[in-house]
Amino acid sequence: MSAAATAATTPAIGPFSAKNDEFTPFTTARHWIGGKWCDPATSRAVQDVLNPRYGKPLAQVRMGGADDVDLAAQAAARAARSWGEWPIRERAHVLYRLRELMVRNIDELAWLVSHENGKIFGEAKAEVEKGIECVEYGCSLPNLAAGNQLEVSRGVACEVAYAPLGVVAGVTPFNFPFMVPLWMLPQALVGGNAFILKPSERVPLSTLRLAEMLVEAGLPAGVFNMVQGGRDVVEAICDHPTIKAVGFVGSTKVAKLVYGRASTHGKRALCLGGAKNHLIVVPDADLELTAENVVASFTGCAGQRCMAASVLLAVGKVDHILDAVRARAAKITPGKDLGPVTTQAARDRITGYIDGAEKAGAKIVLDGRKADAVAGGYWVGPTIIDHCTPEMACAREEIFGPVISIVRVPNLDAAIEIENASPYGNASSVYTSSGDIARRVMERVEAGMCGVNIGVPVPREPFGFGGWNDSCFGHGNITGWDGYRFWTRQRKITSKWALQRDQTWMS
Ligand code: NAD
Repeated sequence: MSAAATAATTPAIGPFSAKNDEFTPFTTARHWIGGKWCDPATSRAVQDVLNPRYGKPLAQVRMGGADDVDLAAQAAARAARSWGEWPIRERAHVLYRLRELMVRNIDELAWLVSHENGKIFGEAKAEVEKGIECVEYGCSLPNLAAGNQLEVSRGVACEVAYAPLGVVAGVTPFNFPFMVPLWMLPQALVGGNAFILKPSERVPLSTLRLAEMLVEAGLPAGVFNMVQGGRDVVEAICDHPTIKAVGFVGSTKVAKLVYGRASTHGKRALCLGGAKNHLIVVPDADLELTAENVVASFTGCAGQRCMAASVLLAVGKVDHILDAVRARAAKITPGKDLGPVTTQAARDRITGYIDGAEKAGAKIVLDGRKADAVAGGYWVGPTIIDHCTPEMACAREEIFGPVISIVRVPNLDAAIEIENASPYGNASSVYTSSGDIARRVMERVEAGMCGVNIGVPVPREPFGFGGWNDSCFGHGNITGWDGYRFWTRQRKITSKWALQRDQTWMS
């Protein structure tokens, strides 16, 4: 049967109409189960989805619960059987079509991400582009996923085939509403699974359009499902016996909880957590490159990236570079170059860290606390806190805002020691023009994703994305080949077709 013939009925959400930052409402986020939009099985809370630029609801989300997860798991289980029997190449063809739809509608998707999350249009577009890159990786899987085969004994062959797990689920955070689901979906779907997504309740809108595009791309009903909600839905996903694997991306606190709960129920779990990323700047670093890059790293997406720079370890005499960082950051205009943070609570948390650092004796050399670009929005301007000690909260804890804490250290060893004392291990970068210094840092820092003269060292496809230590619970990376391995299981087939005369223990 052709893909189009088995696809779900095209639902009627339709495109998001915004073409600029002007406040634009969007449709209510409902569940997408078995190829249909539906409301929670039992009446539950309806929550506002706020546009953080204005602090105003642009939509609502109907929060689900365990009964909705059960309905989604049943629909997914029904769909998984036949989807898993499609040849991998045909499964990947759905992603080829999805890619075309994403490319064709890239501006619409980017505006939707920008309005639900608050990031500026250029950043939102980059997010959608990275989502497209992840889909392209999924398209390439038929060329990568051939298992090995070997004659292991005379007349006896062993082969490996990648089989789907069946029904799997993903839980995603607010900061990349469109891209993070696409860290998981391509490998899981091409691997032959049916998927249940639980998007962040703060940003459930762009994935509504993703669901529609998957239908248009020819994905059969029930292969992709979405259950809206929060903690109740996540716990039900962890507990549900039909769901065999859980991918999670969010804060360390919740990543740990989800990893523990899903594992207790015998599921595979890969749970990416929070971060506290360090940039090491040494005196021989290129002035322009470093200043531009450091600022882009800590202010991009309003500092709400798990790869954002959070601590600058200033090694020796680097004041000329710090001055250039400050001068550049001071030119950033909130509302134009910098979006708001996600909620009023986030704003309070971030400014609380700045207040705390000031009280503890650090120097606020650029202060974003008074930023107020658009009335009602949750604004924090670029903030630089100098002369921090490693013990200060701003230098130890994840702030998740456009703030960088500078800790001055006498030498490289001291910098590496501070970086490695952090329980997190997502990203770490060094700015230098010395290959030797770069190598020494790259060999010693406790971080899964490292950069040399790159402030946001995101491994592009096909390299896998994933941190170490408290930034990742579970084994491997979430994207790239590790992702495919996570969402599939290996079947080892040993076969013999004739009795062999020269018998071995295997004959
Ligand atoms: P969060 O942990 O609050 O929420 C993530 C998801 O978990 C959401 O879907 C939410 O509904 C759900 N959730 C929240 N509380 C829960 C609970 N008690 N039990 C079960 N589920 C729960 O994270 P967030 O605020 O949406 O996202 C920001 C965090 O995500 C930051 O810490 C950031 O560093 C991290 N992050 C990490 C990566 C990475 O790759 N390591 C990528 C993006 C974001």
